[in-house]
Amino acid sequence: MSDIDTRFARMLHARSKPAQGEALQPAIVPASVYHQAGDPSGPYQYGRWSNPTWTALEEALGHLEDAETIIFPAGLAAVASVFYPLLQPGDKVLLHADGYGATRGLAETYLKPLGITFDLTATGMVGDHDLAGYRMIFIETPSNPGLDICDIAAIAAKARGAGALLVADNTTMTPLGQRPLDLGADITLASDTKALNGHSDVLFGHVATRDAALAARMRDWRKMVGIIPSPFDTFLVHRGLETLELRFTRMCDNAEKLAPRLAAHPRLKNVVYPGLPSHPAHNLAARQMTRFGSLIALTFAGRAEAERFMEDCPLLRQATSFGGLHTSAERRSRWGDKVADGFVRLSVGCEPVEPLWQAISATLDTI
Ligand SMILES: *Cc1c(COP(=O)(O)O)cnc(C)c1O
Repeated sequence: MSDIDTRFARMLHARSKPAQGEALQPAIVPASVYHQAGDPSGPYQYGRWSNPTWTALEEALGHLEDAETIIFPAGLAAVASVFYPLLQPGDKVLLHADGYGATRGLAETYLKPLGITFDLTATGMVGDHDLAGYRMIFIETPSNPGLDICDIAAIAAKARGAGALLVADNTTMTPLGQRPLDLGADITLASDTKALNGHSDVLFGHVATRDAALAARMRDWRKMVGIIPSPFDTFLVHRGLETLELRFTRMCDNAEKLAPRLAAHPRLKNVVYPGLPSHPAHNLAARQMTRFGSLIALTFAGRAEAERFMEDCPLLRQATSFGGLHTSAERRSRWGDKVADGFVRLSVGCEPVEPLWQAISATLDTI
């Protein structure tokens, strides 16, 4: 029995002792204002500052992360919440060169003109980088879309020595699949649009940290800029979170079964999956991740073959994003990712695995 299993089970029952007649599930509270007479008091004073539906999800996620958690209306808002309030002109940041592109886009377009320097390094090379002089190290492991991996604990130790904050984008693994804070990161964040919500119907994000001063700074920033989630979306994400363990387990089980079969298929030029012994960081993945994840990187001969596969496979949604309960795929170079034209990110879903494999392999055979 792992710690994270215990944590998830307890999270599910954190609301199991309500008052007689009280609803067991969190209420959606669509409030811009709360009754406040005389001197303002209590946790709920204005809708931009706090909301009971947010509190319920932040408590649940906080339990899972074992850290103070702040929710946002998108993963990128969570990324922004570490950049804007925690960096100042003159600060230097080491950022992944091969992770989620919009994180670099935000840095380049809006942070660089404010006098913040961003140096880019490939995910697999961060561990070798000299971290002296950096204020923040921002990693994403496994990276989206290449699924490269870096050693969180080793980088955390180096970052601490250099006086830099380590931020880990944990989107591809969720708090169930990888525990960046336990490995020494100062902040973990995720796009919960992906597997955490898992139903492809809400954009969402969160940050978590065990440093109260950092948490207060990010929470105040949210309050002041008003980048706040709707209580309705928050409720949906809370509902999604409660089946995360079931879904994530099934998705990882499926991906672990599919990856070696895909790797053996003659129509694919390359298959990258952290669970395959051929992955250059397979041993590190086995050590620092509790599962190998639900993403598999496939390289077809070219764009035409990749597109034919996605068009013809009956059990595949063609969509950007990943982590949903339906298997989906996309050709990443269409967004400018520096990958081959035939590179497809396959997001393995929760379907029963044998019909899924049958559909995938039958389609591959016709390419
Ligand atoms: C999708 C994604 C984001 C951005 O999340 P949104 O919810 O789309 O704003 C950030 N990081 C990673 C790794 C992602 O995959």
